[in-house]
Amino acid sequence: MTLPSYWRTRDQRLSLVGEICPHCAARLFPPRDVCPECGGAAKQRLSFSGRGLVYSHATVYSAPQGFEEYAPYVVALVKLEEGPLVTAQLTDVNPDEVHIGMEVEMVTRKLREEGPAGIIHYGYKFRPVLQSVPA
Ligand SMILES: [Zn+2]
Repeated sequence: MTLPSYWRTRDQRLSLVGEICPHCAARLFPPRDVCPECGGAAKQRLSFSGRGLVYSHATVYSAPQGFEEYAPYVVALVKLEEGPLVTAQLTDVNPDEVHIGMEVEMVTRKLREEGPAGIIHYGYKFRPVLQSVPA
């Protein structure tokens, strides 16, 4: 990723900011400025809760360049509380414990370092929601 695009997409990566369509109330993530449901302009920002459920998942054993240190890792399709599906890496979880319907929440994590100068990219991942322990 080049620096200009890094900064341009910063908001989108550090919090789960999408858009809501003013015409049909569809919730969009990632933001795309045109509603896929009704074709209207949708530029009204909406912050998502960052919570959702695992919709499907896959364990990656052979990581692409730059991600080797994380393999094996789990990539999941997460259905957000607000409706949209997002693809993201899961973290803080044993791949064997991931299951469909698991409650997850967004966390901001380092995604990768680029080159010896180490431009560090941050972005969102999801981790299991810690179940509260009854008192
Ligand atoms: Zn719409």
